[in-house]
Amino acid sequence: MLPDEVLQQIRDELLCLPSVGSSILEISHRSAAFATILAEARQLVREIAEVPDSHEILFLQGGSRLQFSVVPLNLAIPGKPAAYTITGTWSGMAADEARRLIGVNEIWSGANSHFSELPSAAELNTNEDWSYLYFASNETIHGVQFRPMPGAGRAPLVCDMSSDFLSRRIAVQDFALIFACAQKNAGIAGLTIVIVDRDRLCDVPAHTPGYLNLKSHLASDNLYNTPPTFAIYVLKLMLLWIRQRFGSLSEVEQQGLAKANLIYDAIDRHPNLYRGHASRRARSTANVTFYLPGEADSRQFLQGAKQRGMSDLRGHRTLGGMRASLYNAMPISAAQQLADYLDEFARSR
Ligand code: PMP
Repeated sequence: MLPDEVLQQIRDELLCLPSVGSSILEISHRSAAFATILAEARQLVREIAEVPDSHEILFLQGGSRLQFSVVPLNLAIPGKPAAYTITGTWSGMAADEARRLIGVNEIWSGANSHFSELPSAAELNTNEDWSYLYFASNETIHGVQFRPMPGAGRAPLVCDMSSDFLSRRIAVQDFALIFACAQKNAGIAGLTIVIVDRDRLCDVPAHTPGYLNLKSHLASDNLYNTPPTFAIYVLKLMLLWIRQRFGSLSEVEQQGLAKANLIYDAIDRHPNLYRGHASRRARSTANVTFYLPGEADSRQFLQGAKQRGMSDLRGHRTLGGMRASLYNAMPISAAQQLADYLDEFARSR
């Protein structure tokens, strides 16, 4: 979901950017107009996500999945394996990609609990001989989220924040690298935000394609190739909206918790009907995953939801059940509406 205000501004400016005279869809990525948009978007990420000067901000293509390969290529220290925490589909895929390139130690896996649990902070980051420690802050499909976020330990931290970036305050200085595709809280598909501690970048292997070398992007000030200009423009509008609507990421986080709690509380009120996927301490504020007893119940539930104007509640095809995604643009009234419907559906049976 994108905020109405952002969609309206895109519509209003689509034919002609104010004081530019042409559309964002037409201007050159080397034009002064786009240079301003790029610099503003970068500055807003720095300000809102509190990115320290030690860290660079890049806007790349290839989605978060390309970062699954970029990370090992740019951060692996020869002879030191990387540690991967497998908490769901996405961190599992990231480890599979890394394994093609470097030595990987799978230090924790939630497979036995069907990815409903997370490791405790004490189970992580215990070894300084790793190139880095990798985890996903929120597993979008399973709905498990590290809360609080693991802090700096012995090995540099790398985090896939695709589905909770810009929804919570982060100690960015604790991380060697953070990446997040934009299509959850930061706009639209086609753009991936990478925040990297410049001093942690290693020399990539000689055969590495230029695009996958983060130093190529830094050296060319994010213009190594044509960046996704429209998606960067939408990111800028999303950041301005976050600042205007919430003021800070702490406030986004508080409101996100309030939204998620409305739905988790409703699930917990009817334990004979609804079963949450994530264990309580791993529950995600971004993606609430739960099951009804059978396929017929699920179908009936989804049908009733649709009649009430609620769509896209079916869980990911690999997990089944239901998934309510509560990204920043989803208002609290929508979470309340779903909570009310969960009660109503339970009462009707
Ligand atoms: N990581 C996470 C946590 C995700 O949710 C997703 C996409 N849903 C990805 C990685 C992959 O992102 P992309 O499709 O942009 O490659």
